Amino acid sequence: MSLIVQKFGGSSVADADGIRRVARRIVETRNRGHDVVVVVSAMGDTTDELLDLANEVTRRPPARELDMLLTAGERISMALLAMAVSGMGAPAQSFTGSQAGMVTDGAHGAARLVEVNPQRVRESLDEGNIAIIAGFQGVHRQTKDITTLGRGGSDTTAVALAAALQADVCEIYSDVDGVFTADPRIAPRARKLEQVSSEEMLELAANGAKILHLRCVEYARRFGVKLHVRSSFTQNEGTWVIPSPEDAATSPKEIPLEQPLISGIAHDRTQVKVTVVGVPDKPGIAARIFRLLAEAKVNVDMIVQNVSTGDDPRTDLSFTVDECQGELAVSLLRAAEEKIGYAGLDYDDEVGKLSLVGAGMKSNPGVTFTFFEALAAANINIDMISTSEVRISVITAADRLDEAVRVVHTAFGLDAEQEATVYAGTGR
Ligand code: ASP
Ligand code: MG
Repeated sequence: MSLIVQKFGGSSVADADGIRRVARRIVETRNRGHDVVVVVSAMGDTTDELLDLANEVTRRPPARELDMLLTAGERISMALLAMAVSGMGAPAQSFTGSQAGMVTDGAHGAARLVEVNPQRVRESLDEGNIAIIAGFQGVHRQTKDITTLGRGGSDTTAVALAAALQADVCEIYSDVDGVFTADPRIAPRARKLEQVSSEEMLELAANGAKILHLRCVEYARRFGVKLHVRSSFTQNEGTWVIPSPEDAATSPKEIPLEQPLISGIAHDRTQVKVTVVGVPDKPGIAARIFRLLAEAKVNVDMIVQNVSTGDDPRTDLSFTVDECQGELAVSLLRAAEEKIGYAGLDYDDEVGKLSLVGAGMKSNPGVTFTFFEALAAANINIDMISTSEVRISVITAADRLDEAVRVVHTAFGLDAEQEATVYAGTGR
């Protein structure tokens, strides 16, 4: 008998039918002789609707109250799911994050787990119950105030519980069959990956793939939790995210002899590009600019500096930041105009980022060439470039991003024979 943690996202429990469908699945797993712990998100778009309501009653909802409000979404789905499961003859008990021992720091809206102590969950399992836990929430260790882990945080709840309970697997259910070589909504010929290393999954998640929350992948990697990403709408085998080569041998899949060259393509539309024009090209200037941004906790992603020539060398320096920090970056630079001594500022929010990820890149020259050639053949201009050991990212014009994803997908031979099925929802 094994212990399985199953996490169901909002689109899987969007209405009563969805809740009953998920309940059947849980009961089936249980009937196969497993202990089952379930983590559930709020129904459908509940979290967004609650956020809208909060913003209607006041312009600045206090963070503590916002967390209190948002966690109500998961309380609704956990109780309904427990009722549905009980109605099918399997004993079930629901627990809030606090009851399940999800202890956090005090950062409302983006709390970090500091301790996971699922004593009551363990007891409930031992009594023969299916334990159903509200995702995305915890309790502040000192104040005992209710906290949330940040949007999409239910994945992290599931992985943290799987680690603490030493579960055999953490199944993350959503509305697609697994992790795809690209977003099937953009590249219909995207293929489902049978497995992906957590190193690659981290790069995909960090660069816009929404299938898994970045923090949950980090957590799973650190604690060696095996993730199985699959659809709640079918019985199909999904994608296994393998924490390390040693663990691969224990997964149902054979460990591959060679890493595939490319695992997938992620895209991101949430970046903006800021260009500081005519910056004096002398030591210390870049440091001055980025100190300014760092002090204000602006997270800079890509950076490009052009070459300069002449007697009074000046250069253009471009960087990208998340769109929610774009205005802040610009206002900081404006305020420091004299100190830095630049000639102008340029702001571009019509950019997109494409990232090609694959562990096989490390040992295969020519990937960059194929990548750039595919974009060139489609007449897509590359604005900025950055790389890591297993990733190459480029910035393109926003309106060319979808096409860029498709041509690069084709160029690396990733296209499937058939189009991928998308069951419901918006990608989470
Ligand atoms: N309901 C929360 C959200 O929409 C948490 C989650 O879905 O994981 O962000
Ligand atoms: Mg959600």
